[in-house]
Amino acid sequence: MTLAGWATDYVKLVLAVGRHDADFVDAYYGPPAWKEAAEAGSPCALSKLRAEVRRLLAGVTASAVPVEEALRRDYLLGQLEAVAAHLARLEGQRFSFDDEAEALYQVRPPRTPSATFEAALARLEQVLPGPGSVQGRYQQARERILVPAERVDAVFQAAIAEARERTRRQVLLPTSERFRVEYVTGKSWSAYNWYQGGGTSVIQVNLDLPIAMDRALDLAAHEGYPGHHVYNALLEQRFAQAPPGGRGWVEFTVYPLFSPQSLIAEGTANFGIEVAFPGEERLAFERDVLFPLAGLDPAEAERWAQVQSEMKVLAFADNEAARGYLDGDLDRAGAEAFLVRYSLRTPAQAAQRLRFIDTYRSYVINYNLGEHLVRAWVEQQGGTVAAPERRWELFLDLISSPRLPRGLGL
Ligand SMILES: [Zn+2]
Repeated sequence: MTLAGWATDYVKLVLAVGRHDADFVDAYYGPPAWKEAAEAGSPCALSKLRAEVRRLLAGVTASAVPVEEALRRDYLLGQLEAVAAHLARLEGQRFSFDDEAEALYQVRPPRTPSATFEAALARLEQVLPGPGSVQGRYQQARERILVPAERVDAVFQAAIAEARERTRRQVLLPTSERFRVEYVTGKSWSAYNWYQGGGTSVIQVNLDLPIAMDRALDLAAHEGYPGHHVYNALLEQRFAQAPPGGRGWVEFTVYPLFSPQSLIAEGTANFGIEVAFPGEERLAFERDVLFPLAGLDPAEAERWAQVQSEMKVLAFADNEAARGYLDGDLDRAGAEAFLVRYSLRTPAQAAQRLRFIDTYRSYVINYNLGEHLVRAWVEQQGGTVAAPERRWELFLDLISSPRLPRGLGL
């Protein structure tokens, strides 16, 4: 069988696994008949799906491919290995946090010692002077940059327009591309991009908790431009679509969430914020455009930018909390307390994060470690802060390629 044949069977397998886990199929825009077939009747038994994934792994491993399709084959193998691991989990096999991360996302998350977080907190003490704990001072500073509910949409739309414009200067996007923002409640995530195919996304923003100003570019750039929306649109245009526009690689019409593709997706979405808004440009845009639009004091923008750079370090606290909690070394209250101390979340935010960890488990590494690995890959090839054009070029290369974490060569 050709690689195209194995790819077709892979898509059908992912859809079949989706019957056992509603979170698994994040996006699908291939032939509707395949989805209808997967959804007809009762779900295929897990043991049968395990046998199928073994058959596909053996088939793809044995298939000879031309050099230009080597990355495509590696992609299929990596995704299939993750499907196999996810099926094992669905059958009840227990994985440690590190084993699960490696099986699903191709990386073993390093441990971050508490001393690293303590050092970041000590630096934050300087940025946020005053009485009380640094956690309390952080929350007070954050309260000064909360976007009033009636201004949230205007701020988001302005951020989206700017991020889109900056991205369009660098890459030719499909003419049909667009995305729509919806406001929702009662979710464990703060925002989510649902890719619909045909260059369109629906981005949902969770309004359960107050929205701070730093969420504006997270939403516009991480979920939108040049993040998830652009990543999905480029993969569809360059791979999934039939020739001559694309390559007719059908495996790109489905996106299984618990797979190595997610590390690239989240890592590039996070790193994309500073690719689109490098150095002082983010601060300038937030201070001069978004803060006034939200009716907030622009003088707060500068300090908040300094806070954000330490938050990059503290983002790794999610991995430690999730590892401790999922491996049974921390109970729920202990994990929430860890997040309150080291990721500076409010108790309500920490509780929301624990609900996210309950559902998505080791997926949390894709944000912080994913960003770190993507940055390292781009910088290693000269895409540094001092070379913004080169950085854009490498970034776009990564989000329009089948490359998985193993292929980063780090
Ligand atoms: Zn994301």
